Amino acid sequence: MTAPVVIVGTGLAGYNLAREFRKLDGETPLLLVTADDGRSYSKPMLSTGFAKNKDADGLSMAEPGAMAEQLKAEVRTHTRISGIDPGHKRLWIGEEQVPYRDLILAWGAQTVQVPVEGDAGEAIFPINDLEDYARFRAAAAGKQRVLILGAGLIGCEFANDMSLGGFEVELVAPCEQVMPTLLHPAAAAAVQAGLEGLGVRFHLGPVLTRLERVGNGLQAHLSDGTLIPCDLVVSAVGLRPRIDLAAAAGLQVNRGVVVDRQLRTSHDNIFALGDCAEVDGLNLLYVMPLMTCARALAQTLAGNPTAVAYGPMPVTVKTPACPLVVSPPPHGREGNWHVEGQGLDLKVLCHDTDGNLLGYALTGSAVMEKLALNRQLPALMA
Ligand SMILES: Cc1cc2nc3c(=O)[nH]c(=O)nc-3n(C[C@H](O)[C@H](O)[C@H](O)COP(=O)(O)OP(=O)(O)OC[C@H]3O[C@@H](n4cnc5c(N)ncnc54)[C@H](O)[C@@H]3O)c2cc1C
Repeated sequence: MTAPVVIVGTGLAGYNLAREFRKLDGETPLLLVTADDGRSYSKPMLSTGFAKNKDADGLSMAEPGAMAEQLKAEVRTHTRISGIDPGHKRLWIGEEQVPYRDLILAWGAQTVQVPVEGDAGEAIFPINDLEDYARFRAAAAGKQRVLILGAGLIGCEFANDMSLGGFEVELVAPCEQVMPTLLHPAAAAAVQAGLEGLGVRFHLGPVLTRLERVGNGLQAHLSDGTLIPCDLVVSAVGLRPRIDLAAAAGLQVNRGVVVDRQLRTSHDNIFALGDCAEVDGLNLLYVMPLMTCARALAQTLAGNPTAVAYGPMPVTVKTPACPLVVSPPPHGREGNWHVEGQGLDLKVLCHDTDGNLLGYALTGSAVMEKLALNRQLPALMA
C-alpha cells in the first residue's frame, strides 16, 4: 500500500494545504494528524468573538468528520506526534509508527509563558486556538475585569474586542508603545488613543510580577508597584514557532523550521508551512503567507515542483476603535518615515532614497488608501 502524505496540524495551514492538494490530486492517501479536536475554524476570528457574540462552537466552521469527507482524508484528532524518523520516512505517535510518503509540518507556534509569582497562575489564559478560547469564554462568564498582558497585534485586538464585549480592560506590557515591532510611533499613538477612547487603560513599561487571589477576584502586582484588581488575565505576550521535534529529528531550525522556497526542510521528503515555518529566512505569522505557501506546496506535492513567491503582505489589524493596516518595510530595507494627517487618521509612509514606497501604516480613515498604496509596495520575496 502507498504510504500517505501526512500533514501534522489542522489549523489554517494544514487544512488549506489539504484543500489545495485535493484540487490537484484526488487519489493519493492523505492523513491529517492533530493534537486538538480537529474542528475547522478561522483563527483571526478568535479576537472578534466578543464583539460578534460568538463562542467557540459559533466560530467552528466544520467538525473533523466533515473535513475528512470533504478532503477524502483520514483526520486523527487529539493525537500528538512525538517524534520523526526521517531516515525511515516514518513518524511516531507514542509507540505507534506511521509511515509517510511526504510529511508536512503545519504544527504552528506555541504561546510564550511568562513566569509569574503568586497563587493564581491558573487564572492566566493564553488564547491561541479554539480550545483555549472555549476555556477563556467559560471562565469569563459573569466576570467584569480583564487584564491583558502584551501590547502586540493580538493583545491590542483582544483589548478592543473585550471592551466591545462589555469588559473593563487594562493592558500591561514592558514596551514604550503598542505594536513596537510593527508600527511607527505616530501610528502606535493613534491606535492607543483609539483604544483609550473605548476605556482601555494602558500600563506601558512594567511587567506583571505577581498574581494572587483576593476575595472573589485577583490582585495583579506590576513591577513598578502598581496594583490592579481584576478577574481574569489574558496572556498575549508572544508566539514561538514549534521547532523542538524538528530539531530532535535533525532538521535545520532557526526561529522556525527552516525551509527553502519550495517549503522543503533540510530533509527531502519533509516540508513545513504556516506559523512554524521559516521560509527563506522569513517567519511570518499571518494568514496571507500561509495561503500562498499552501498553493505552491500543493503543486510540489502533486509532482510539479513550485517555488513560493511573496508579494506585499499588508496586515489588517482588527482594532475598529482605530482601524489599522500596516505593511512594514521588507527586512533589512531602511527608509525615511513621513507622517501625514492628524488625530486618529494618519498616513505614515516609508520611502527609500529614490522615493520608492517601502512600507506604510494607515490608521483611521486613511486605511481607505491601502489599495492604491499596495500597488506601489515592493514584494517581500520576489
Ligand atoms: C487571536 C489571533 C488573531 C489573529 N488575527 C490575524 C489576522 O487578523 N490576520 C492574519 O493574517 N493573521 C492573524 N493571526 C495569525 C494567524 O491566525 C496564524 O498565522 C494562523 O492561523 C496559523 O495557522 P497554522 O495552521 O500555522 O497554526 P495553528 O492554527 O496554530 O495550527 C497548528 C496545528 O498543529 C497542531 N499540533 C501542534 N503540535 C502538534 C503535535 N506535536 N502533533 C500533532 N499536532 C500538533 C495543533 O493542534 C493545530 O492543529 C491571528 C492569530 C491569533 C492568535
